Amino acid sequence: MAFGKWVKQCFESVVDPDKENEVAELTQLLQAGIKERKRSFVLAEVLQDRVYKQRHLDQARNGIYQRYLARAWADGRVQESELEILSWVSKCLDIPPQTLRAINLETARPKFAEALAKAMDDGIISDLEAAELTEIARAGGLSLPNFVEKFFHIEGEQFLRGIFAAAIADDHSAVDVLEQLVATAAKLGLSRKVVVEAIRPQAVQYIEHVLADAKEDDILTSQEESTIRQLIETFELPIAVQVYIDEELRELRLLTDIKNGKLPSIAAPPGVNLKAGELMHYHGDAVWQFLRLLKSGPDITEHPGVLAITDSRLIFRSLTRSGAFGFGTIVAHDSSRGVIEVQRQAKPVQRFICHDQSRIPAAIFLSALRMANQTLTSQDDKRRSRHIPRDIRQRVWQRYSGRCAECNAGEYLEFDHIVPVAKGGSNSDVNVQLLCRNCNLKKSDKI
Ligand SMILES: [Zn+2]
Repeated sequence: MAFGKWVKQCFESVVDPDKENEVAELTQLLQAGIKERKRSFVLAEVLQDRVYKQRHLDQARNGIYQRYLARAWADGRVQESELEILSWVSKCLDIPPQTLRAINLETARPKFAEALAKAMDDGIISDLEAAELTEIARAGGLSLPNFVEKFFHIEGEQFLRGIFAAAIADDHSAVDVLEQLVATAAKLGLSRKVVVEAIRPQAVQYIEHVLADAKEDDILTSQEESTIRQLIETFELPIAVQVYIDEELRELRLLTDIKNGKLPSIAAPPGVNLKAGELMHYHGDAVWQFLRLLKSGPDITEHPGVLAITDSRLIFRSLTRSGAFGFGTIVAHDSSRGVIEVQRQAKPVQRFICHDQSRIPAAIFLSALRMANQTLTSQDDKRRSRHIPRDIRQRVWQRYSGRCAECNAGEYLEFDHIVPVAKGGSNSDVNVQLLCRNCNLKKSDKI
């Protein structure tokens, strides 16, 4: 191509002084032709003898089609008869299918977005709303599922997550909510698989929340357990998550039994002699720790050995120090995960730091103590006072978005008193946080 001609073409394509005129003329010509000839309109005949630039013709006929389209959409919907007219106009004007699809989609898209938002407003998509969406999608040249798939996948998923989160926060059964959502999403043409995958993160969070709540109470109701089991199954959670949740459930079930007074009965280890009729509930490796507050500071002595808890005594055996004392001699106690702290009359505070860092040893001790000595009600009061009420837990959970305050982990979560109750901490919102098990253990090491 000659350089001069090339420059001229570039110039024309940018400025094109004749363009507006020619497009307007072509538009007029075609519109008049359609009006006049109606069904017998033939593009080539109308354009006969005319010299024009192809892109001007394209612009003119696209403009005409868009005007017809706008008229069809004027009442917010495109009816069957209007679709027929549009189809006829597009054929008359010989608009290439690809261009036609693009125009139809771009026009329908904002209408679809608006209708979808309106339909989702109440969380349920009615048949009527579904029909309206189907109609809009069709005017856009797509089926409803294809339309959602193409443009509203993200919105659709957010919508589903939002409903799920709101419904379970309202104490609805998560499984029921899911079924309802699957039905709603089906109206948008979203498959069950899409719904399940969209909500899975919420389901996991929900399970964590139920577990953290149950850990705070040391009570897992059979309803909670069956909900969790249903969720694991319904949401096809990864095996690793299943194993971890199973572990947590097993511990919680054990804790629930212990709290209800159903203590495990086990054989005494060698070297531990039980009295006639005495029952052994627990034994495991532990360190016996004595704390003395001297003028020079705290003095701690430690003896690694084995701790046993029976229905009436704590028994400790080690190479350096062994001993046993009945529950009746205990005047105060404070126990938490892996630690049993007791005070006996006129004796220094002593602690048993269990190798088993679960809540089991402390729970067994508390339950055995309570059953052996029903008069120790003040201890129950103390325990009750450290219990975090449900509404506070709910707020704290939301404040931390179901994540560990220290490391942001989303698993093994527990409610924690920032300042321990034993040190004067209260149950108020500001003194309760969410910690994962690891961070909680690290924290109790420091205290
Ligand atoms: Zn953590």
